[in-house]
Amino acid sequence: MSFSSDCKEELCRVPCDKACCRMAELGALYMTLGALSLLGRGQLCVQFATESPAIARRVFVLLQKEAQIVAQLHYVTHARFGGVRECVLTVGPRQAPALLIRLNMMEPGEDGALTLRWTTPRVKLNRDCDRRAFLRGAILGCGTLSNPEHGYHLEWIARDEDLRQNIARCLQSLGVPVKQTERRGVVSLYCKQSDHIAAVLTAAGAHQAVTTLESLRVRRQVLGSVNRAMNCDASNIQKQMDASQRQQRQIEALLKTERFSTLPPALQEIARARLRAPDLNLEELGQTLAPPIGKSGVNHRMRRLMQIAGEELGGGEPALPEPGPPQPDGS
Ligand SMILES: [Zn+2]
Repeated sequence: MSFSSDCKEELCRVPCDKACCRMAELGALYMTLGALSLLGRGQLCVQFATESPAIARRVFVLLQKEAQIVAQLHYVTHARFGGVRECVLTVGPRQAPALLIRLNMMEPGEDGALTLRWTTPRVKLNRDCDRRAFLRGAILGCGTLSNPEHGYHLEWIARDEDLRQNIARCLQSLGVPVKQTERRGVVSLYCKQSDHIAAVLTAAGAHQAVTTLESLRVRRQVLGSVNRAMNCDASNIQKQMDASQRQQRQIEALLKTERFSTLPPALQEIARARLRAPDLNLEELGQTLAPPIGKSGVNHRMRRLMQIAGEELGGGEPALPEPGPPQPDGS
């Protein structure tokens, strides 16, 4: 199961207790999955088509609870699209007018005869609860969510201008900026920021999906900072080892010359300490001396020692700050 279908299954389980919310959600589902057909002699039927049995069940329950309609379910297999099976719910001509009236698409005219005024539902989105319900229906009907392990992307493929306006209005009320794109003539609305996606999913009622999203985001952040710290440590250790090895080579070479015995005792001491303890950094090296000295003291002595070794041995061993960027080996 993908994150997107997990999230939709969760949305299908969100309780929808209030009539106003049921109508808002049903309105979004009609705008995304519904179609109106003329049967002749003024008769109409409404069909909802979806690949998801969970969404078909959701539509069935909303129709039953809100308009006392028992829709007929059948399956259609599309040979053209790799044998995709669609669930189709049909509201027949006897019950379709009741649904269309509830969706504010049909009204009685002056003569009392029912007239179809609009081809899409007029959904009331003045209340918070209804905007949340509309978003839920729109995600179920035409939304897709990318796997958050690979990136953050929530998109509504919304062919209908009314649908886009309604989604945009709901998102604006959540303070979520909405972006629009067009690919091969198909217009989509989308959000790409994890906190915006979390706000939309929370509003729609997909709390489990938000938890998954948040824990993945935190895990990613922690992994990022751990990796940065580890890389930084590894690179500092490597620099320190490189510096120590250069110091050892210079000291060993200097020991073979007359110059070594003429060095001040402090420099001889630090030279011997380095040969005894090649793995220690300067601070630790200072602690092995009697009496111990601090890092800057060790750094000063080592710098002077390397300078003398450079003069004595030639090849210009540079003075060595530590830790610092790797330097070319002059010997
Ligand atoms: Zn409501």
